[in-house]
Amino acid sequence: MTVRNGRQFLSIPGPTTVPDEVLAAMHRPAVDIYTGPLVGITDSSLADLRRLFRTKGQPYIYIGNGHGAWEGALANVLSAGDTVLVLESGRFAAGWGQMAEAMGARVETVTGDQRRAVDPALLEAHLRADLLRKDKADRIKAILVVQVDTASGVVNDIPALRRAIDATGHDALFMVDAIASLGTMEFEMDKWGVDVAVTCSQKGLMMPPGISFAAAGPKAMAAHGEAGFRTRYWDWTERHGEEHYMKYCGTPPVQMLYGLRQSLDMLLAEGLENVFERHRLLAGAVHAAVAVWAEGGVLEFNITEPAERAPSVTTILTNGRDPAPLLDYCREKCGVVLGIAIGDLNGKGFRIGHMGHVNAPMLLGTLGVTETALAALDIPHGRGGVQAAIDYLAGAVKP
Ligand SMILES: *Cc1c(COP(=O)(O)O)cnc(C)c1O
Repeated sequence: MTVRNGRQFLSIPGPTTVPDEVLAAMHRPAVDIYTGPLVGITDSSLADLRRLFRTKGQPYIYIGNGHGAWEGALANVLSAGDTVLVLESGRFAAGWGQMAEAMGARVETVTGDQRRAVDPALLEAHLRADLLRKDKADRIKAILVVQVDTASGVVNDIPALRRAIDATGHDALFMVDAIASLGTMEFEMDKWGVDVAVTCSQKGLMMPPGISFAAAGPKAMAAHGEAGFRTRYWDWTERHGEEHYMKYCGTPPVQMLYGLRQSLDMLLAEGLENVFERHRLLAGAVHAAVAVWAEGGVLEFNITEPAERAPSVTTILTNGRDPAPLLDYCREKCGVVLGIAIGDLNGKGFRIGHMGHVNAPMLLGTLGVTETALAALDIPHGRGGVQAAIDYLAGAVKP
């Protein structure tokens, strides 16, 4: 017997649920790419991406996933032999760094704790040591960090990291992966002194995977002028051309652009502050439930500091128990797809995605099914996690 039929809740941290309005906007035949509405959609979407990144800098749209945006960002500002500093937390910054290494950069790492945010003091110490290097050419050229690491579930304090850089006077580029955070929480590219930011379509932007985005500030543009890794497809300068196709280095991703326009309209209609607050509240409900479940001694937050838990994804450890039966039960019996834990945490826990097109009934449904599975599988847990989530929301969402 199952109670699965009905709408499946995809509760993984990306790709996230695509709203019906976005799907409907994409459902259209091929259109002219040289004149007509699509050209205006490109222009207005680029303008609205500036609002999302909060920058006066230049945004770009790539056909590609997040890895594409990573490579594109590196290719536009670095040269062979440049040193980059990876601020490790979870999995994704390290992955970005490996990409830089494969392209021919030298990589140094501020080794992180998988259960904590990057410590700004470690960054500061690393940069101070770097400034003592005799040969200026060997100095760190760029710093790579993620705002939210989707594997560990941590949120890094980007403004605090910026302050640590400024305290040393180091002039490295500050490059931020906002893939699992843009459109879910505050991001202030210009105010925080971020030189390059990247994101992609299938997380907070509520779209199918397939397009990704970069934004470049003035310092990144200056570095771009002398970057040796530049290739034709990723090259920012090539994309400054007047013709519409130049902005995509070829045929634009037509249907995706209609989807993007719709998703941006939805985010801006809700109001970005409200979007962030919705994510904060839903994350609070998840945290309330997990804290109660954890009383059973099996489940545990991966991120130990409550303030460092991301508003978009929660990673939960199962302390020696195989999480597979729990995920199977949720999916096969009840129609809720939870995320597997990835990277070093694979097989050691699971993840609940709460980013993008998600609201209280969807989230309470996911939490309710998770608690049902815990009970059905006799996994020790504190009872009343869902009640705690309800109590939290009832207290936080005023009439
Ligand atoms: C999903 C994700 C990526 C990778 O994106 P892909 O589209 O899978 O290439 C990179 N960084 C973060 C923080 C992510 O969440």
